[in-house]
Amino acid sequence: MIIQGSRLASASQGRFPFKLSESIRPIDYRDEKIAFTGPVVVTGSIEQNGSLYLVTGDVQAEVVLECSRCLGEVRYPVRTSFIQEYREGGADADRLVADRDRIDLYGPVVESILLELPIKVVCREECKGLCPVCGSNRNINECGCSRDEIDPRMLALKKLLEEK
Ligand SMILES: [Zn+2]
Ligand SMILES: [Zn+2]
Repeated sequence: MIIQGSRLASASQGRFPFKLSESIRPIDYRDEKIAFTGPVVVTGSIEQNGSLYLVTGDVQAEVVLECSRCLGEVRYPVRTSFIQEYREGGADADRLVADRDRIDLYGPVVESILLELPIKVVCREECKGLCPVCGSNRNINECGCSRDEIDPRMLALKKLLEEK
């Protein structure tokens, strides 16, 4: 996710539009590996002001998430945007630093994608999920296990009631 120097040179003449389309390796996030189904596409522009570059980008990607009920794959399209400042040659903590001839967009692009991910996603509304007793996928195999025995909160409540 790098914009090269020759392009930055023309950014000094004002606003420079760019478009990147690149494959990104899976990202580790919340104990999951977030994989992409195709390239991540970033369109945007760079504005230079002295040693400061202001990059605005629109991000389009499709990630693979896990259905929170059946653990199956869910393709989830992401459309988001970011604004990021880069300071040339500096070591500013708040702003990413641009090498003399390149700006790396990886950080802000990945961050903007992760911010768009839902905490939970289901493969479809009617997904029946995995049986908590025997573990079979209830979309494929209706196992017929009794489901009220296993809720630990119910177990605790039952125990409490029995003790009285
Ligand atoms: Zn599912
Ligand atoms: Zn079962």
